[in-house]
Amino acid sequence: MQTIDHFDFSGKKTFVRVDFNVPLDEQLNITDDTRIRSALPTLKKILKDGGSLIIATHLGRPKKASDKLSLKHVLPHISKLLGVEVQFANNCVGEDAEAKAAALQPGEVLLLENLRFHAEEEGKPRNIADNATDEEIAAAKKAVKESQKEFTKKLATLADVYVNDAFGTAHRAHASTALIAEHFDADSKMFGFLMQKEINAVEKVMKDTERPFTAIMGGAKVSSKIDIINNLLDSVDNLIIAGGMSYTFAKAFGGKIGNSLVEDDKLDLAKELVEKAKKKGVNLLLGTDAKIGDSFSNDAKTGFASVKEIPDGWLGLDIGPDTIEEFVEVIKNSKTILWNGPTGVFEFENFEDGTRAVAEAIAEATNKGAFSLIGGGDSVAAINKFNLADQVSYVSTGGGALLEFMEGKELPGIKAIRGY
Ligand code: AMP
Repeated sequence: MQTIDHFDFSGKKTFVRVDFNVPLDEQLNITDDTRIRSALPTLKKILKDGGSLIIATHLGRPKKASDKLSLKHVLPHISKLLGVEVQFANNCVGEDAEAKAAALQPGEVLLLENLRFHAEEEGKPRNIADNATDEEIAAAKKAVKESQKEFTKKLATLADVYVNDAFGTAHRAHASTALIAEHFDADSKMFGFLMQKEINAVEKVMKDTERPFTAIMGGAKVSSKIDIINNLLDSVDNLIIAGGMSYTFAKAFGGKIGNSLVEDDKLDLAKELVEKAKKKGVNLLLGTDAKIGDSFSNDAKTGFASVKEIPDGWLGLDIGPDTIEEFVEVIKNSKTILWNGPTGVFEFENFEDGTRAVAEAIAEATNKGAFSLIGGGDSVAAINKFNLADQVSYVSTGGGALLEFMEGKELPGIKAIRGY
């Protein structure tokens, strides 16, 4: 397989699929440019080699072309970060894109308009009438799949080489993230640096695991994490369950959880997961005490209670001191750590202690040589809040993509390039 660090891009036109789906404010200013910065090493390497760049991305979830989600708003910032005047094609396919791509000289950069202005990017029909029959829906799906082939080919013909650096969309089998790869031979397609780093980090955790391996699963709901917990039970030594979802477990085993977050339809599932952990010899830690509040607010009256004896009218909003001590001890002695989801409502200063203690323990273990991967939106926000991002091994940029990868699923964007 071709790799970006060994490839010489000189004289090549390279189509780079990035994830520049950045948040914009009302005035269409970028409020967080992390996603653009994350792809810079790939873009700069190609330009340094003497190649030219065709940058493609989606922005938002447009149902059709719209000024608000045009990439022209992001263009000046990309030019600034790259230090090159970036050209713009007002459509990702068609005459303008073709002419500008054909005229690109080494060192020049072209940004294509939002890929998702075309339904073919995702390959899903749009604007289906509410009263459409099953046959009409099936025909619309077939039609867009057909036109997707043509669309993909048009994207591919713009360039000589294909680089995928969009880990955030690697779990989608879209035209520019996966299907396009078929149009390039094995020597002309590869992952960008960001994508390669993400893959390496997950594979270090899941395949090349140094033990003990501890996963900390927190966050709001168990329903969104069932598949990943299930998969992790096959490989972890310690599984820490924290956050809102831990009360579903407490209730499943007869606990009184007051008004804490609970998914009543997942009580049996919680029992099954505990059973599976036992069978697999996994040390499952559910916590013993909680920091409770009398309302869902930073200003709530606070107290501590056993997770199984939370008074009516109160709710568990973070782990308590005994649990912190227990979790920290396990984390500090781990050699591989995966963290997804806060242990409590860390957005409230009065309920951030558990999440902070976990973050600090991960940093300490990393310092002693453990490999730590932080992934999933809220644990990334938490590690940033506590200024510890540079003291862990890797902070993933991919939410859904990372979760699916950790669930053991094949990601189309990865498979399209390396075959598995
Ligand atoms: P998730 O996106 O599932 O990882 O959930 C993250 C969210 O879970 C954060 O916004 C937390 O505030 C929230 N959360 C964590 N613990 C609790 C809790 N005990 N009760 C309610 N929400 C919680």
